[in-house]
Formats: sequence, structure tokens, C-alpha cells
Amino acid sequence: MHHFKYRNNRLYCESVDIETIAEEVGTPFYLYSYKTLIDHYRKIRDAFKGLKPIICFSMKSNSNLSVCRALVKQGAGLDIVSGGELFKAQKIKADPRKIVYASVGKTALEIDKALRAGILFFNVESVPELIMIEKLCARLKKRAKVAIRVNPGVRADTHKYITTGTKENKFGIDENTAASIFRQREKFSHLDIVGIHIHIGSQITQREPFIKALKKASVLIRALRAQGVKIDYLNIGGGLGIIYHKERPQTAKEFAKAVVPLLKKLDVKLILEPGRFISGNSGILVTRVLYVKRSPSKNFMIVDAGMNDLMRPSLYSAYHDILPIRRSRATRRKFDVVGPICESGDFLAKERILSQSDEGDYLAAMGAGAYGFSMSSNYNARPRVAEVMVINGSYYITRNRESYEDLIRGEKIPKVLR
Ligand SMILES: *Cc1c(COP(=O)(O)O)cnc(C)c1O
Repeated sequence: MHHFKYRNNRLYCESVDIETIAEEVGTPFYLYSYKTLIDHYRKIRDAFKGLKPIICFSMKSNSNLSVCRALVKQGAGLDIVSGGELFKAQKIKADPRKIVYASVGKTALEIDKALRAGILFFNVESVPELIMIEKLCARLKKRAKVAIRVNPGVRADTHKYITTGTKENKFGIDENTAASIFRQREKFSHLDIVGIHIHIGSQITQREPFIKALKKASVLIRALRAQGVKIDYLNIGGGLGIIYHKERPQTAKEFAKAVVPLLKKLDVKLILEPGRFISGNSGILVTRVLYVKRSPSKNFMIVDAGMNDLMRPSLYSAYHDILPIRRSRATRRKFDVVGPICESGDFLAKERILSQSDEGDYLAAMGAGAYGFSMSSNYNARPRVAEVMVINGSYYITRNRESYEDLIRGEKIPKVLR
């Protein structure tokens, strides 16, 4: 469900004609629908209403300040994975008591900043990290809450780069080690080890892996409680899948219906960390056709957005629907939609039946709101694109297109080379 729909064969974002934005802003750009974003946040909030969870939006899916601010204003917390995301969270005045911090490689400096900011808790991914947080707390004379990220050994049916809950993945701590950490909690005199965190991967469309992981977490929590350990929080991570192509993911309601009974029995404060579910369908990438190249063996639409702007097709063989901003009756043919980057892996779509566009026509890569801009880079010395949001019938540039000067900001040529 989203608010990018055709009216008279022109694609609109809510009530705004996208071509008008493209003419004024130039291409490529990411375009977000505020209404779609908020609707998805509310879907998950309402589905879990009975449990009053803290819904921590996963900033790595989209850390655009306006996107995050819009969600924070609705009451969302944030799931961060770096000092940079903490910095951005502070810029939008997010409530630190609704921020949780996961990452296998938190540096001492990042931990220090998060301690000073007073975040809700760290999701700890190894014993050495736990020791590091304890040491930094002692130095700052602070106490901190932590949850142990448990790797439940559950394989989710998703792309291998985005499964995180199997024993071979670098994430989390196995159940036995986790249990022994809880038993030795007195050793960490500055830490309140108060929760369990599980996050088994991303773009998971089935409910079974979630339930399996949750059951494992429940067994662990019960065993620990039987030994007198207090467990206040259960963070069940993110990972809810969305529709890119023909997926039939569970809805927020169905997901809640499956897991809430299990959660109710546990009597814990619930944390959720959805990213893609909230941001994914709320954004598109708008691009312009530069050339239509037909060869005896293949047809290409060469567009002005490349793999540096939207990496998912190259990185995960991900599918994004390609829609024309102006629908036409032109002949339909099979095309590869490719960018200008000097890599064969630079494509937005392969072997798609599309009506032939002309040079200058605009296309949209749909479902690009999650892991789109946030994964983009300056490869091929390409300035990162603008980000625009439609809110209540008007559009706002929420991030300027980078300039060529931005490309060299911070670069210095040593004297010996001059
Ligand atoms: C990436 C990530 C998320 C969000 O995943 P989605 O699939 O976007 O919902 C949540 N929690 C953690 C720890 C993550 O690393």
C-alpha cells in the first residue's frame, strides 16, 4: 500500500504530479510520501497497541532527517547502528530514552557518545564489547542498560546478505554464552543487563522464522528467570518483508496476531525495530531516460540514476518495479534499465517488458524508500541525489543534490604533490 498512483496516466505522489517535481528539481531524486510513511508506522503501532511497545525505527533503512523527524513526531523511537546515526538522531531531537543501539563493531568513542546521550540501551553483540561498555561506564561514573543480542540460529528465507540469525553470521551471541553472561552479571557493576535482543534478518515474508526465534528467546528468558535473573525487555528486532514484486508478506496485523500471544505470556517490555516495513514503500527513485539503445541482442534504456544511487539491484539482485511517470501506449519491448556507471553490475532492472520511452522521459524505481539513499555513494564521482518529500499537497526538498564542490570537501593534496 502506498500513495504513488496514476491519474490520467500521470504518476502522482499523493496529490502532487511527479513530473512537475522532476522538472523543477532535476533528476535523479528520491521522492518520499509522508502519508505512506506515517501510515506504515501507524499500522505497526496499531497492530501491537495492546502491548504498548517502543517502536524504534531502524535508521539505517533511511536516515533522512525529515523522514526520521516525521516518525519521531509520531512517537517513534530509533534503532541506531553507528555514532553517525546517533548524531543525526540528536539533530532531530529524538528522545534518547527511546534509542537502542546495535552493531557488532561499536567503537569506544561511539559508546562514550551514546552513554553521554543517555540512550535506552545497547544491544550488545559480544563479550569484549560488554567489557568495553563496563569500562567506559566506570570511567564516566555512569550506569547503563544493556540487552544481549542472542543469535538464535534461525535461518530466514531471504537473501544471504541480509540473513543475520544463523550461527555462521557475525551477529549476536549464542544462547549458552548469553546465559552465562546473565549468570555472571555481578561482574559488570556498572551495567544493568536487562534484556534480550533478537534480529534474524531483513525482508522476511514468512512468520515461521520469527516465531521460531521468539520461541527460542522465550525458552532462554524462562530459564534465566528460573535462576533469579530479571529480564525486563525483549527486543524482537525488525525484518518484516514488504512487496517489491510478487511477494505476499504477512501484514503487520497478521504478524502481531502470530506473536502477541507468545509475548503476552512473557510479561516483558517490548521493543520493535522495523525499518523497511515503514520506509520501503514510502519512497521512489525518479530518473530520466538519457538514451534508448537497441542492439540485435538486447535493448537498453540508459537512465541518469545508477548503482551508486540505488545499490539494491546490484548488491542483492533486488527487484524494483519500473514505472513510467507518464503512461503511454508506445510499443512494449524487453529492456534492461541501466545506469551510466562503468560496471556491468550497474542496472536498476533486467529483462523487463516496458513501453519504449523516449529520451527525456521520466521513470520511477518503486519501493526505494528503504536502503536506497542510505546506501548510496559517490562512486564514479557522482554527486549524491536530492531527496524530496510530499507533505499535505506540497513538496519540500529535504536534502539538496550534492554539488561538485561537495565531492572534494575534505580532500587535501600534500605539498610534495603540488
Ligand atoms: C537493519 C536492522 C533492523 C531493520 O531491519 P528491516 O529489515 O529494515 O526491518 C532492525 N534491527 C537491527 C539490529 C538491524 O540491524
